[in-house]
Amino acid sequence: MLVGEAGGGADPAQGGTAPAQDGAAAQDGAAAQDGAAPAQGGAASPSFLCDAMLGGLSRWLRGAGYDAMFEHGIDDGDLVRLAQQTGRVLLSSDAGVFERRSLRTAAVRGLYVPRGLRPTEQAGFVLRELGLPVRDPRCMACGGALTAAPKDSVRDAVPAVVADRHDEFWRCDRCGKVLWKGSHWDGIVAGLAAAAGVAAATEAPAPPAGGRKPPP
Ligand SMILES: [Zn+2]
Repeated sequence: MLVGEAGGGADPAQGGTAPAQDGAAAQDGAAAQDGAAPAQGGAASPSFLCDAMLGGLSRWLRGAGYDAMFEHGIDDGDLVRLAQQTGRVLLSSDAGVFERRSLRTAAVRGLYVPRGLRPTEQAGFVLRELGLPVRDPRCMACGGALTAAPKDSVRDAVPAVVADRHDEFWRCDRCGKVLWKGSHWDGIVAGLAAAAGVAAATEAPAPPAGGRKPPP
């Protein structure tokens, strides 16, 4: 867990089913089609759509400050359509997805994520490929933005021991969770940055042919 959290109002759907808040209009479609080329001229803070194999990546990207959506069990066609409708950058470890027309024509931006990486390494790879910094975290549960919340306003929403030990709290503006920085926070941020560094020294392997099998 990136930061401590206490349940908000609605039980957040895993992977965030809320619609994109920004970037809904079609973007200019500069594409990194298979992970070989960095995106060109992309938004300063792109939002992402992760395929069914990349749920862990979606959480780490949120922790790194990016809105990342993840849908369980969505098929390739729906995944690509959703990316196009929401203007999100499609992240997939399924090479077959990148053979679809909208990816080939750059109507949908996408990035192939190599297999065999841990989620932190996947996040580091994405940040490095797209030239993105580690930002202030978003809600890891849903990707919503976090707004500072006065301690008095969250006292009833967090355990007493947490209220005693912490003075800074944030509330997710999408799912309502209340969050605070745990003692492991600095280590996690350092881990993300280190993962980006490790990924920077690693050549992305070519996408496997076919590739519809689940990861081992
Ligand atoms: Zn949230």
